[in-house]
Amino acid sequence: MAKRFIRVWNELDIKDISKHLIIIGELMGSCANCSHIGLDPYLDVCPKCKTEFEYATFTSEKDRGAQFVKMRNQIPKKVFIDYSDFKRCKAEAKARDFFK
Ligand SMILES: [Zn+2]
Repeated sequence: MAKRFIRVWNELDIKDISKHLIIIGELMGSCANCSHIGLDPYLDVCPKCKTEFEYATFTSEKDRGAQFVKMRNQIPKKVFIDYSDFKRCKAEAKARDFFK
């Protein structure tokens, strides 16, 4: 059987994701909870705010598939989410809070 990565849609809590997300750029990561930058993308816990990274995402669309495959094999415990989905949901939540 040939296994492949296929994106799956799940209903998740954007606030929970924001508290436990490492955002991975070209070389380093940043904590979505406290905005601490320069993190090793393979960290499980933020060294500043001590949040556990349960989710990971990549900012760069370039080579995103290859990055995902490489990291998925090394840190299989994290849930990988699409960065554009995260940004869209975060903006929607912010707009909703603004109009309350
Ligand atoms: Zn942090």
